[in-house]
Amino acid sequence: MGRGLVFVVSAPSGAGKSTLLSIARKRLPDLAVTVSATTRQPRPGEKDGVDYYFLSREEFRKAIARNAFAEWAEVHGQFYGTFKSEIERHIGQSGTIVLELDVQGMQSIRSLYPDMVSIFIVPPSLEELKSRLISRGTNEEEDIRLRLANATREMEAQSEFDHIIVNDDVENAATQLVALFQTSPQAS
Ligand code: 5GP
Repeated sequence: MGRGLVFVVSAPSGAGKSTLLSIARKRLPDLAVTVSATTRQPRPGEKDGVDYYFLSREEFRKAIARNAFAEWAEVHGQFYGTFKSEIERHIGQSGTIVLELDVQGMQSIRSLYPDMVSIFIVPPSLEELKSRLISRGTNEEEDIRLRLANATREMEAQSEFDHIIVNDDVENAATQLVALFQTSPQAS
């Protein structure tokens, strides 16, 4: 389906996925990372239409009703989804498309794009994950508790992924991620 190769990157919250993906984007300027929609509040520095499309719950519900999402899921009590139009926007162009999804999203996209390649980024340990979430300073205590519980559950699903990258060293992990993206003959 389409000409681009589809990658799904998942990670427990705080594993460093955004950092690794931003390094990969700098090294592979043609990489197309889709922008998801979410009902959660923007974190400081996050921009609408760049990091996420920030929607109200009402707007999100309407988008579900008009069948606008390729997939959507409830994660940490908020809604997240990938617009079909986001995927279509990129898939017509040659190159590599990256979707950042939780495990449920990966499972939905796998049934839509069976040829997709899935990558799971893990933190060195759950202890390390906890200290990263706390030091980020942008999550409430209850949110951190929820994210850690989800992390434990998501880590159990790692065997469903094609590749696992342990993010114990950012440079090393970024190099592995870039190498995987380059396995596409169309990646730059
Ligand atoms: P965060 O709030 O930390 O940005 O993201 C929380 C979780 O939502 C992460 O696991 C992230 O991968 C996931 N997520 C982000 N966008 C989407 C999406 O479009 N669909 C799904 N299913 N999960 C998403």
